[in-house]
Amino acid sequence: MTRIAIYPGSFDPVTYGHLDIIKRAVRIFDKVIVAVAHNSEKDPLFSVSERVELLKKATGNIKGVEIDDFHGLVVDYVKSKGTKVVIRGIRMISDFEYEFQMALTNRKLSEDVETIFMMPSESYSYLSSKLIKEAASLGANLKGFVPGFVEKAIKLKMR
Ligand code: ADP
Repeated sequence: MTRIAIYPGSFDPVTYGHLDIIKRAVRIFDKVIVAVAHNSEKDPLFSVSERVELLKKATGNIKGVEIDDFHGLVVDYVKSKGTKVVIRGIRMISDFEYEFQMALTNRKLSEDVETIFMMPSESYSYLSSKLIKEAASLGANLKGFVPGFVEKAIKLKMR
């Protein structure tokens, strides 16, 4: 049996924090499908297809990863992939409340779906796509936060 997990999110754009979670997840699951949500972010910097492309490039050398996008409910997408597992990252206590609500809402929507929380390396526990975009807009160097080609893509968008 192939153990498949879905890692859903906005990924606007992918950071080293997301990549850390993906690398940990492929150690436990045969296949990790990183799925970009069409409806999660109100004012995204990158389109869904751009986010998918950046994720593909960033995970090209990690075995067992697939990149996709989805519309609608996470639980419906999870079932459409023939699995029951959702992975989410928890950076700090501040993530917990929202993630807890979402996991329990998803459980209410579908009893079968389980959410697994994973912690990144502490060196990435402060990283967020939102803060990286803010820092970039103020001219920050993003080395150490995102791969070089992601930094270039952010800077091109902000020109
Ligand atoms: P969403 O809008 O669904 O929260 P994000 O792209 O911000 O989308 O995050 C997707 C998932 O990755 C969430 O579970 C989030 O907690 C997790 N995540 C984001 N940044 C990091 C990080 N630096 N380390 C670990 N997990 C992270």
